[in-house]
Amino acid sequence: MEKMKILMAASESFPFAKSGGLGDVIGSLPKAFPKESCDVRVIIPKYEYIPEKYTSQFKAVDVFYVKVGFTEHYVGIQSYELDGVTYYFVDNEHFFKRPGLYGYYDDAERFIYFCRAVLECIPHIDFYPDILHCNDWQTALIPFLLKEQYQWHYLNTKTVFTIHNMKYQGHYGFNDLKGMLNLDYFPAAMEFYSGVNLMKGALYTSDLVTTVSPTYANELMMPYYGEGLDGVMRDIGYKVVGILNGIDPEVYNPNTDPALFANFSTSLKKKSANKTALQDYLGLPVDKRVPMVSMITRLVDQKGIDLVLGVIHEILQMDLQLVILGTGDGHYENALREIGYAYPDKVCTIIDFNEDLSRKIYAASDLFLMPSKFEPCGLSQMIAMRYGAVPVVRETGGLKDTVQYFNGETGQGNGFSFANYNAHELLYTLQSAVGLYYDYPKQWEKLVHNALKSNFDWKRSAETYLDHYKKITGK
Ligand code: ADP
Repeated sequence: MEKMKILMAASESFPFAKSGGLGDVIGSLPKAFPKESCDVRVIIPKYEYIPEKYTSQFKAVDVFYVKVGFTEHYVGIQSYELDGVTYYFVDNEHFFKRPGLYGYYDDAERFIYFCRAVLECIPHIDFYPDILHCNDWQTALIPFLLKEQYQWHYLNTKTVFTIHNMKYQGHYGFNDLKGMLNLDYFPAAMEFYSGVNLMKGALYTSDLVTTVSPTYANELMMPYYGEGLDGVMRDIGYKVVGILNGIDPEVYNPNTDPALFANFSTSLKKKSANKTALQDYLGLPVDKRVPMVSMITRLVDQKGIDLVLGVIHEILQMDLQLVILGTGDGHYENALREIGYAYPDKVCTIIDFNEDLSRKIYAASDLFLMPSKFEPCGLSQMIAMRYGAVPVVRETGGLKDTVQYFNGETGQGNGFSFANYNAHELLYTLQSAVGLYYDYPKQWEKLVHNALKSNFDWKRSAETYLDHYKKITGK
């Protein structure tokens, strides 16, 4: 049987370059497809950020040029194999040899260039995919261009577009992009308030649109969550599916993770050694009895930081410690720093992006707070559960699909949740959680074990993707 050929295009992939959940997904989904029936390859930009231990082993594949506006740009394709998946890297120092991943004035041009490079690299890598799977706005131009300009080159290629976050759409003024798109007409499929919306183009032109949880797929059809594209989502509802992300149980394995102070699998005593070691490390009072509540997050509106700040003094009336690791908007960074200064014995705020520390915190925490305003899927709550930290979440998107309120009577459930985006609902839910921790240790233990046992393996999701790939290719 001929294998299904899948090329995933994205702007990040763990372990090479990651700024959030997208990087985790592209780093773990490809290897979850069955090797006997799928040949999965990934293409991302070659950022300066990628550690040298990888780049020094990249193999040169080919060199060619693509046009962006009137300029011809160099494209070097390099490759590297990891866990049976071939990764391709688009090398162009002008666009990608800079610190970090995004946030540059010319991000639109950088990713328009990348989309062209992906479409034109296919003959150079000699891999004509059945499925070209694109992710988020950075690769959203690919399905549009494939339909408009490359259809005859890639007759048998179907496109899939995954929305990892509807908030970031790639919305620009037409005049700003006109010179880079190499189109001699206004692209109607991308029209959005007289400008150009790259995400909208992908929604209309892809053969299949997926998003990263069933609940988020439904939410996106509503104005509150749709970020202006809810009408489009309703229009294309017939080709939208929500497929829950997973996490790689080996990448996040408390039993082998070298970042932890003490490895553990089910022993809560060993888990607790992580808490006391982290308290010591962060300069908090060392006390294994006190519950540690943590947040590891981008500090942006989406993540519900304002809810936490709204009731922070009430939260800190409780006997608990709060550890926050994150970077993002300056006003949240400052407010959280100040809380750390005001309650030095209870709060530790670390403004940083630090993978190693994040794992230490997951392993040390009793509770993990994630009161998001919206959450396409959310990986942090899954990682938290894998490390025995009980999630406290708002019932939205993937949080709703992965966290079930613990029922002390039946012993079912793996966390705590609340429905409305309301600071006091968050407070009362956290109070219930802390109450259970102190007053019902047996039930608490059961709850932590339920969280530890929750299965967020990629296998089932990869099978669902594959079923849909088969449907659209007829293979
Ligand atoms: P999002 O993609 O919206 O940022 P997710 O929960 O899907 O949220 O994924 C976030 C990922 O980024 C998780 O792996 C989380 O551990 C990681 N992360 C977020 N902030 C930090 C930080 N400051 N330091 C280290 N890792 C972080």
